[in-house]
Amino acid sequence: MAIFENSNFDNHESVHAFTDTKSGLKAFVAVHSTALGPAAGGCRFWSYETSNDALTDVLRLSRGMSYKNAMAGLNLGGGKAVVMKPQGDIDREALFSALGAFIDNLGGKYYTAEDVGMSPADMRIIQKKTKYVAGLDEGEAASGDPSPVTADGVFRCIRLGVEKKMNRSLDGITVAVQGLGHVGYDVCARLSAVGAKLIVTDINQAAVARAIDEFGAQAVAPDDIYTAAADVYAPCALGATINPKTIDQLRVQVIAGAANNQLSVAAMGKQLDERGILYCPDYVVNGGGIINIAGEIEGKYDPAWVEKKLQGLETTLAEIIDIANNSNMTTDVIADEMARARIAKGRSA
Ligand code: NAD
Repeated sequence: MAIFENSNFDNHESVHAFTDTKSGLKAFVAVHSTALGPAAGGCRFWSYETSNDALTDVLRLSRGMSYKNAMAGLNLGGGKAVVMKPQGDIDREALFSALGAFIDNLGGKYYTAEDVGMSPADMRIIQKKTKYVAGLDEGEAASGDPSPVTADGVFRCIRLGVEKKMNRSLDGITVAVQGLGHVGYDVCARLSAVGAKLIVTDINQAAVARAIDEFGAQAVAPDDIYTAAADVYAPCALGATINPKTIDQLRVQVIAGAANNQLSVAAMGKQLDERGILYCPDYVVNGGGIINIAGEIEGKYDPAWVEKKLQGLETTLAEIIDIANNSNMTTDVIADEMARARIAKGRSA
């Protein structure tokens, strides 16, 4: 397993492998950067075929967190944990207890929270072993489920993208929402409340039925979301949905959604621009969740502070779009450059 040769290795400050035979824990923690503060990012609990796959994921995701945290204006660096899901019965108490002890050994260089496969209950297990954990649903500073705040940020960015690209409000706009989970469903509720029309899809038919019932949404099959006659495409399910296969199908003017790593390859950013589609960079749009978690890490959860940071996301996105409109650079490249500049400034300070 090569670390430095891995194409996702980006001069990460440190990469840690943890094993515990008793619980069966096999985990990686990657600290990409602490230039802006302690590294923060969720823990992913996933079935990986090989430890190389898990390593690749943690390298990629931790770098993404550095960029996301920098763009959200947080005093946090980027890090991530991945735990390889063991075969057979899983003793979550033993597994996450062992993980908590390892995270504690890092001495505050990395704060964990929920990501795919993890819940507030798992965070409570980790908390028994370390204070470097957030996303709790109990306690003085607990911030709870970050999804509603992520949805709030996504909604604001869709509204801004439509204003900038189409010069109109969301009333009467059609948004194609892919994925009606914790974030996507909430985004639908917010859009519906201001008069937007919804075209939705999910592999979970119960969620689709609920959206039809509650919002009068039009449902389409998962593969038909790309060709939907909509103004906005909001990817809120999986990554890499903007790829060589789907890009020519898109009929929208704006893309803004919660999913991480929406562009399958960097070249997609340029192609979207050439097609006249405004791409709102994913890690700016979906920064609401980590803002909420940062409120908890600060030790004094304050809704007014969270609101200020959410407004900051809108300001940052507006700046990116304005630069793109006045240059030949694309929004994804501008966001990357801004994130790197903010991290470099933190490093030199
Ligand atoms: P979730 O698991 O609650 O919801 C995802 C939904 O997508 C599910 O309803 C699932 O059935 C659906 N789905 C899966 N495959 C699909 C497909 N092929 N077509 C259509 N629907 C499909 O997850 P979530 O918390 O709502 O997060 C959504 C996305 O946003 C994820 O990519 C996540 O990484 C990202 N994100 C979430 C947060 C957060 O606060 N929850 C923060 C930042 C980024």
